[in-house]
Amino acid sequence: MHQPPIPHVAGSDPDIAELIQSEARRQFEKVRLIASENYASVAVLEASGSVLTNKYSEGYPGRRYYEGQQCIDPIERLAIERAEQLFGVDHANVQPYSGSPANLAIYLAFMRPGDTVMGMSLPMGGHLTHGWSVSVTGTWFNPVRYGVRADTGRVDLDEVRDLARRKRPKVIFCGGTAIPRTIDFPAFASIAREVGAILVADIAHIAGLIAGGAHPSPVGYAEVITTTTHKTLRGPRGAMIMSTAEHAAAVDRAVFPGLQGGPHDQTTAAIAVALREAAQPSFSTYAHQVVANAKALADGLLARGYSLVSGGTDNHLMLVDLTEQGIGGKLAAKALDRGGIELNYNTVPFDPRKPFDPSGLRIGTPAITTRGLTEEHMGQIAGWIDEAIRAATTQRDDVLDRIAAEVRDLLTGFPMPGWGGPG
Ligand SMILES: *Cc1c(COP(=O)(O)O)cnc(C)c1O
Repeated sequence: MHQPPIPHVAGSDPDIAELIQSEARRQFEKVRLIASENYASVAVLEASGSVLTNKYSEGYPGRRYYEGQQCIDPIERLAIERAEQLFGVDHANVQPYSGSPANLAIYLAFMRPGDTVMGMSLPMGGHLTHGWSVSVTGTWFNPVRYGVRADTGRVDLDEVRDLARRKRPKVIFCGGTAIPRTIDFPAFASIAREVGAILVADIAHIAGLIAGGAHPSPVGYAEVITTTTHKTLRGPRGAMIMSTAEHAAAVDRAVFPGLQGGPHDQTTAAIAVALREAAQPSFSTYAHQVVANAKALADGLLARGYSLVSGGTDNHLMLVDLTEQGIGGKLAAKALDRGGIELNYNTVPFDPRKPFDPSGLRIGTPAITTRGLTEEHMGQIAGWIDEAIRAATTQRDDVLDRIAAEVRDLLTGFPMPGWGGPG
């Protein structure tokens, strides 16, 4: 049963209720390795599903354009205070609808169309909103892109410095979606300072690791920090922008009225709940376990002859390069999904294949760590991944179905927030 229960959806809209139940069961039965996903707590789910969705509250606490903010103002103030305290920042804006709008607000706050932005190239591990060509950020602005070194698979800071000196970007983004190594915030800060750029750390993927002390913090290095709240931070779908006091007004103006209308108050409450959870000692244990699990899983894959971009991981994710296995990422990902192991195909740096069927797989441990899996299970998961990829190349669906059954069997012992079992 879905947690919290959904009897009213079932009564009024059985089609949707059944699909929600099926999705909950699917999330229960699969080893979920998509690096950007997690399981939010039932408390987060309850706050997200509350009557706060009925309210309009354009503006900021104490400065609203609608009446009736007696409860919403303290909710948003709590979310802001908790974000400021957890990350140790001067200012937090908790209203961005998601990570992409949060990043758009950065352009609005600090740039004019045609200005130069520097970010990591998407196929090297960056995000669309860091100036990639199909994104508005790469067409209305002038993008300059850095990547990783071919020999190390790591960000080439000499290239970043050189590019920054020549192109003089207004804003430099660091962070991305497929970076398996620690981000060197002090090095980026020194480059940004040298060229007079604003450094924005987009910590969407690693916010939970930073909150839990399992990745260095950008605070004190990046003047502005954007993050989603639903990845390692384990909150609702949403985002935040944090900054020094100097940039607070520009950030707030850009989010509202620059880009958005009314904030999603139900999400604000759920962010507050998630931030309180992330401040508990148990969350720090969680964050360190995410990293320990990723290391153990990476070791298991390396031991089975798989090649990992940069040779391993420092954080919650790894990128497998399947070139030597002679199978495309898409076929492998589809086979793994049938085998009960959910992940995504991904480009690897300098990928010779096309983006919709690239050479790599991205694998992350935030969700399975929330389920309670530890290092002792990672060898088995690496073994299943290896077996499923072999089965894909020999078209052995029977093997994939057997793996899916074994996965289901293992996961029965690990409860999932959001699903109370069948019935
Ligand atoms: C996920 C992500 C985003 C975008 O978040 P959405 O909520 O999907 O819009 C932005 N930047 C980075 C680095 C991300 O990983």
